[in-house]
Amino acid sequence: MNKKGIVAGNWKMYKTPGEGRKFIEEFNNLMLKIDDVEVIFCPPFPALFNIDVILRNSPYKLGAQNCHWESEGAYTGEISGPMLAETGVDYIIVGHSERRHIFGETDEWINQKVSAVLDGELKPILCIGETLEQRKRNETKKVLETQLQKGLNNIDNISNVMIAYEPVWAIGTGETANTVQVKEAHNWVREILADLYTRDVADQTAILYGGSVKPNNAAELFEIKDVNGFLIGGASLNIDSFKEIILEVKGILEG
Ligand code: PEP
Repeated sequence: MNKKGIVAGNWKMYKTPGEGRKFIEEFNNLMLKIDDVEVIFCPPFPALFNIDVILRNSPYKLGAQNCHWESEGAYTGEISGPMLAETGVDYIIVGHSERRHIFGETDEWINQKVSAVLDGELKPILCIGETLEQRKRNETKKVLETQLQKGLNNIDNISNVMIAYEPVWAIGTGETANTVQVKEAHNWVREILADLYTRDVADQTAILYGGSVKPNNAAELFEIKDVNGFLIGGASLNIDSFKEIILEVKGILEG
């Protein structure tokens, strides 16, 4: 299995369209040689159009942070996959822990979203992860299994799906899961995928880690066999830290 290297930045609810555009222009001007690293920016919805224009001439990809599962309808405040597709996104994050835990998204909704994103020929980044209480109760494996089973229910082909393992207790807390925990969780996710699909499909699926990834811990985390890249919140808001993480990943890919 060739190791994939993916670095996705989740800006959450940070940066206005103007700030986002400035950030991307400056980032683009660095002319980074990212080679085999796939770099994805996921800004808030209003910044997508602004940024798409700049990214069209760059090696970087665009993603959204959420969507509804219907393509249109009376869902005030929501936004659909086809609407997002017109902004130039390739990816949509689905089931981020902040959506699950602050906005009460269920595995069933998340499953419908994964399905809708794939139907719209976009690529979902399906986030899963346990809370601290669940980890303390030794329920991590069960939680990941349930979230994957339910999130991927009736999805026959996951060649366009990425999984992001993001322990809830590590997101935005500065507390990264240690390498043993990440290794164990990623290996488990791959085993579940092999069980739900085939070993080959499991091996081909990108599994990202997310949770307080910074330039100083990116290398040791990316060295882990089943880690194919990162979903990054805080550190993606700063040009230097995001760049450093990309370069760490690139360095390891190049051996
Ligand atoms: C995230 O938002 O998905 C995330 C992992 O955030 P942070 O890197 O800030 O922990």
